[in-house]
Amino acid sequence: MSPIATTTAVTRYGATRADVDSVIAELGEPRYRGDQVWRGLYTELLDPQAMTNLPAALRGEIDARLPLALRPLTESVSEDGGTVKFLARVDGGFDVETVLMLYPDRATACVSSQAGCAMGCGFCATGQAGFDRHLTTGEIVEQAVLAAARARALGRRMSNVVFMGMGEPLANEPAVWPAVERLHDDLGLSARHVTISTVGLVPGIRRLTERPLPVTLAVSLHAANDRLRDELVPINRRYPLDALVAACQDDLDARGRRISFEWAMIDGVNDRPGDAVELAALARRLRPAAHINLIPLNPTPGWPTNGSPPERVRAFRDQLATLGARATIRRNRGTDIDAACGQLAARQQKAQPVLLSSPLRARTSTG
Ligand code: SAH
Ligand code: SF4
Repeated sequence: MSPIATTTAVTRYGATRADVDSVIAELGEPRYRGDQVWRGLYTELLDPQAMTNLPAALRGEIDARLPLALRPLTESVSEDGGTVKFLARVDGGFDVETVLMLYPDRATACVSSQAGCAMGCGFCATGQAGFDRHLTTGEIVEQAVLAAARARALGRRMSNVVFMGMGEPLANEPAVWPAVERLHDDLGLSARHVTISTVGLVPGIRRLTERPLPVTLAVSLHAANDRLRDELVPINRRYPLDALVAACQDDLDARGRRISFEWAMIDGVNDRPGDAVELAALARRLRPAAHINLIPLNPTPGWPTNGSPPERVRAFRDQLATLGARATIRRNRGTDIDAACGQLAARQQKAQPVLLSSPLRARTSTG
């Protein structure tokens, strides 16, 4: 199982511990330098040039031999300051986005797993743009480190990572799973605080069930009957609801981890009383019941339908509760900077973006 080779060089956050050790060995440096570099990268979140415990020449060598994979383009901050969106270019000229969301009790990075997405969900800006390529492990980990470094600069600790940016993580498992391990083993995140959000790739869910790290699974449901789901989420034609629910039930039985269902509320499409009845029935099929997250749809250029109005969202939630299904209304964060779910398309920036010197770069690159 080899990842699609996209970036041939070993990148800074694609390098394994063994890769770093062999760079150190090639340079004729003592082994403990490898520990220092690794600590600098993952504990201190430093650019090698800022690793002052290393001799200056070694800093330069590490910087050159372990290049960053993301070239930061812009960074946008929402009006309330609670959401930061990073836009970066990867090898091949594709742009990917990462979002840092600051809450009172946690700081969550939303990372991309692919440049674009091949799943073709019509309401999603990433899906509308199509698929460019898989991201590498290094490109994924580096997004998390970028967000963690920004959080730290704001006096916060990144506590959660959600794979809810661009792309379908379970379509890129060879890169995503090593990234998850790196987040857990090296960035020190609790596996439970790492959420894989999937459109419903059943074989990928079944493999997730077998993984040793107890990550959290979120399934983007959006419809609770196959006719509507076939339309909204085309991959449903391959993995229809019965197969999806069975995979979720088996995961619940095996891991005992609560699953959440994402439901983008679309005006007049999946927000009617009959939709709540279907959804509650589906959620109740899972024991213990799944938790439902309701998010009003963000209208996107390619799918200009509105999200449900707030009172409809509340009524839907209340109806679900009456029917014995637990649901939470999620506030859509960062819409003013196009950082909200489904808006990540790496297209023109609406808010005035700030040209970036990445927290991971000691020196500002101009090229
Ligand atoms: N491919 C994965 C993860 C990325 S999408 C998945 O689909 O789950 C992250 C979440 O944003 C998913 O729940 C997706 O359905 C939702 N989403 C996509 N477009 C949206 C939009 N326009 N408004 C609200 N949510 C959207
Ligand atoms: Fe891909 Fe998820 Fe968007 Fe569907 S919703 S197109 S799976 S990123």
